[in-house]
Amino acid sequence: MSLNGKVALVTGGSRGIGAATAVRLAREGADVALTYAGAEQKAQEVAEEIRATGRRALVIRADSADAAEVTGAVDQAAAELGRLDILVNNAGVFPHGPFEDVTVEELDRTLAIHVRGTFLASQAAVRHMTAGGRIISVGSNLADRVPFPGITLYAASKAALNGFTKGLARDLGGREITVNVVHPGSTATDMNPPHGEGADAQRAISATGRYAEPSEQAALVAFLAGPEAGNITGSAFTMDGGSNA
Ligand code: NDP
Repeated sequence: MSLNGKVALVTGGSRGIGAATAVRLAREGADVALTYAGAEQKAQEVAEEIRATGRRALVIRADSADAAEVTGAVDQAAAELGRLDILVNNAGVFPHGPFEDVTVEELDRTLAIHVRGTFLASQAAVRHMTAGGRIISVGSNLADRVPFPGITLYAASKAALNGFTKGLARDLGGREITVNVVHPGSTATDMNPPHGEGADAQRAISATGRYAEPSEQAALVAFLAGPEAGNITGSAFTMDGGSNA
């Protein structure tokens, strides 16, 4: 297994892409910490799945919008699991609606979760990482192309991860820590149910005509976390069934 002896932290690991990623990293041999915001039961179920692979799991309640909580989660994971090699900045929300209706609170909270939380978690993580470290953020294909109205805030918050990834790759390249961003397109989760409102429109703009499964996004993250991806850094990887093609 490619991640034997490694320790990972996945933010927002209680559901969807984060949960699939946490379990996939464990199947590759990593011990895994995961954060959640409210869904404690779901987080514990993911931890049980991780333990069923034979790896250690740690569940931490930490709001990614709260600087002390998100950095505290990183330090707790490193302390309790003994090291930290892989950080997956996955926690996310999907604000949408008319541009004029976006409140200051919604603007601040979205940027806090997607941008500030990612920045601070990564800053805390690199204090623990050694050569071979991996920082992988979960963006969105909407960072590069926005095919529908009503998602300006979401798109802007995810586009920020492109600049963050490139900058941090330059900062950490000399330490052999890689930094990449994965841009999912429509993926079947609570955030974007494949039979929800707007699902058919999303399928219609894709080339494959279908949603991705969370496990498919998790496989890409696992590859970037693995030993064969050591010279991949500062890059963005889109898995959107060709929606942006
Ligand atoms: P889900 O809504 O299924 O899961 C979101 C996860 O993030 C949950 O574990 C949730 O925790 C956690 N979370 C939300 N807010 C916070 C917070 N403030 N602090 C800590 N954790 C938080 O979403 P997805 O799995 O679909 O999304 C995962 C990532 O993928 C997000 O960044 C999203 O933007 C991105 N994405 C998703 C796409 C899709 O089509 N599904 C497409 C493109 C990108 P809890 O369970 O406790 O609420």
